[in-house]
Amino acid sequence: MTKVLVTGAAGFLGSHVTKELLEKGCHVIAVDNYSTGKEQNLSGLHRHERFTHLVYDVSDPSVIGLEELRGVEQIFHLASPASPKFYQAAPMETIAVNTIGTRHMLEVAKRNQAKLLFSSTSEAYGDPEVHPQSEAYRGNVNTWGPRACYDEAKRLGEVFCYEYHHRFQVEAKVVRIFNTYSAGLRNDDGRVISNFVTQAINGDDITVYGDGSQTRSFCYVDDNVRALQLVMEKDEATGEIINIGNPAEYAILEVAQMVKRLAESDSVITYMPLPQDDPKVRRPVIDKAKRLLGWEPHIDLEEGLRRTIQSYRNRLVAN
Ligand code: NAD
Ligand code: UDP
Repeated sequence: MTKVLVTGAAGFLGSHVTKELLEKGCHVIAVDNYSTGKEQNLSGLHRHERFTHLVYDVSDPSVIGLEELRGVEQIFHLASPASPKFYQAAPMETIAVNTIGTRHMLEVAKRNQAKLLFSSTSEAYGDPEVHPQSEAYRGNVNTWGPRACYDEAKRLGEVFCYEYHHRFQVEAKVVRIFNTYSAGLRNDDGRVISNFVTQAINGDDITVYGDGSQTRSFCYVDDNVRALQLVMEKDEATGEIINIGNPAEYAILEVAQMVKRLAESDSVITYMPLPQDDPKVRRPVIDKAKRLLGWEPHIDLEEGLRRTIQSYRNRLVAN
């Protein structure tokens, strides 16, 4: 039975990864400090015989010596606030978890000869001057702004992975994840799909920031989780940085209109100021993921939004 550590297990991606691993027969050690995660994301798992749950901060150095982590074979290091709303409210914690927290997890990997996947981000490209973005593009990140605590910390986390891989032969793998969504996002997450769908269902104004011409490329969570599993499994992904995202690119205004249409909502689309340093475009080149993993996404935005709207509706009815 493979022993797997998932950090950020109570979060959006972490809870999906945890459930997938349990289904595959792994023993999952779930670590989370509940800064943005929710207990209910792991509800029903606590009595599972192959599930161990630790409320812990991975930025705390004592995490390295935890008895429960002895013998781990794989580490999915997903802990970090991901929504601009949350990481900008906790910049120091965000810097810590992605830099020193990543180092702690690499240390655990080194001691146990475990493979480690680090969840980096498309934000590593900043406000890109090259479009679309392949892994070879080195990015355009502003170090002096409200997004820097996240973007630069992820970049330094990648550097720790590079050093542990080259100096200590840790089997580190870095994924740069592009905007991923599903109804697993909290209603108050603040990211665009969560906001638009919640607003459309409640009949509230749909808040487009700026004129809505900025673009993003949205990946449904099932496609993402499948990719993360492949990255962990495939030796070809070791020592590599790989973009994981859906290359279909949409203007944010188009997304607002699509959500309104699919939710059959009477909401009004309104405009609010564009946040500072908001990237103007974002679209992944996924040739490397195709080549190394044999992966590409299958669920397009319209289908993913239909599922998301349906699940949010069911949740509202249940509450
Ligand atoms: P999320 O906020 O839903 O989940 C993050 C989890 O990490 C939460 O449960 C939180 O409580 C936990 N956490 C934060 N700091 C911690 C710490 N110091 N110790 C222990 N646990 C801690 O975010 P998500 O969308 O699930 O993102 C997961 C990972 O993927 C993050 O590293 C994020 O940067 C990365 N990522 C996500 C996206 C996306 O679109 N979802 C895009 C790019 C990168
Ligand atoms: N956005 C928006 N309205 C919202 C939330 C976000 O127009 O209610 C925009 C935001 O300005 C950005 C895009 O949607 O251009 C994606 O934002 P999100 O916070 O989801 O992720 P980002 O890719 O910016 O980290």
